[in-house]
Amino acid sequence: MTSGEVRDAVQLPPTAGRRRNMQANRRRDTGPELALRSALHAAGYRYRCDFRIDLPGGRVRPDIVFTRRKLAVFVDGCFWHSCPLHGSQPRVNQSYWSPKLARNAERDRTNTRLLEESGWTVIRIWEHVPVGEALASVRTALELDS
Ligand SMILES: [Zn+2]
Repeated sequence: MTSGEVRDAVQLPPTAGRRRNMQANRRRDTGPELALRSALHAAGYRYRCDFRIDLPGGRVRPDIVFTRRKLAVFVDGCFWHSCPLHGSQPRVNQSYWSPKLARNAERDRTNTRLLEESGWTVIRIWEHVPVGEALASVRTALELDS
């Protein structure tokens, strides 16, 4: 085990092992995001994944992007994005986790603001939301926009 691995093992909360694995593949491969993409595709929607949007204030890479409709969808992990239901702060190594999670939340707010300032519609969906509900949210946004 390298010293880096030791450090990670110490800093991660007890339940974070699986989440850390998910984080490694986070951009494309999280279960809830994958499920939503599949559902959208099955419903006939076409969208972009891993699509970088260059905005005046910075670059944002939403999870799912409808370019023509200017709709950006984020599927937010409950832990990493501090979901009000499941996003409890780890009890261990709070000095490490609190600022890290606060930075994530701050970045989420900034990205949402940057997108909205440029005329994008932003939907944020918690990973705990059932896929049918997530699909309905996206559908509603697309219909409102048409
Ligand atoms: Zn949650």
